[in-house]
Amino acid sequence: MTTQPIPLTPQEVSILMECPLHYHFAKQPTSLTGPATAQAEIDALVRDTVQQLHAAGGPARFSLADCLVRVAGYPSAVQMVEQYYRRLERDWRQMMAGNEAMSLKISLTGVSLRLNAIIDRLDRTSDGGIMAVLLRTEDGPVPTADDLRRNLAVTIYHALVAATYPLKRPVRIQELWLRSNQEITAELSEDEYRDNLSRLRLPVRALARGEVMARPGLHCDVCPFKYRGCPVYANDPDATPDDFDPKGSDGKIPPRQWIFKI
Ligand code: SF4
Repeated sequence: MTTQPIPLTPQEVSILMECPLHYHFAKQPTSLTGPATAQAEIDALVRDTVQQLHAAGGPARFSLADCLVRVAGYPSAVQMVEQYYRRLERDWRQMMAGNEAMSLKISLTGVSLRLNAIIDRLDRTSDGGIMAVLLRTEDGPVPTADDLRRNLAVTIYHALVAATYPLKRPVRIQELWLRSNQEITAELSEDEYRDNLSRLRLPVRALARGEVMARPGLHCDVCPFKYRGCPVYANDPDATPDDFDPKGSDGKIPPRQWIFKI
């Protein structure tokens, strides 16, 4: 059983909940990481540009034309940067910080965790609270506020912001979907916060014991390790999530729990 704090980012928590084996692969040296995608490239470009805009002092000090030079040749990035620039012209006065790194040590079911994240932007709110703004550059689907309140990654962001700014309440988390120019804001109740964190207990305890479980499902289709190490598909590359019926009925692959010691 490991006694060192397990470092976890919000993105890693999402992957761990979906499939602990995917999480395990992703934590290995670069030889096992997935190939860079066009989406990852656009995401990095937009984030770099937005952070430069923040660091320069906002729209009053850094022109839209200067921003767009950085993303020229990438139409979707141009559109997202332009959308964000217009929003920031309106929101700049409420912005407190950009690209802020946060870290928090917590204990969950006896396992020590070190939560880490970089928050794209922090805004003060008119009711004395604080809002973490998280930029999203994917196509979607855009979640609802209910989805956000159940989301474990959002819960981790909430924990970090609440601990870093103990005098600012309420804490809100906003996802800003730049492609569709939509914002979704959630405020977690105490019960929601605790319920969400409790879902992390089992996978975290297994991790501390050095066990990872493969959990096949629809998410396998976007897993970079499906054909690059995942034993679930090693003998049957054409298997689909339906083949993993937990009851093993109708001639489907019998029930299996893919648990590995690491
Ligand atoms: S392909 Fe599916 S089961 Fe295999 S590691 Fe990826 S998410 Fe997990």
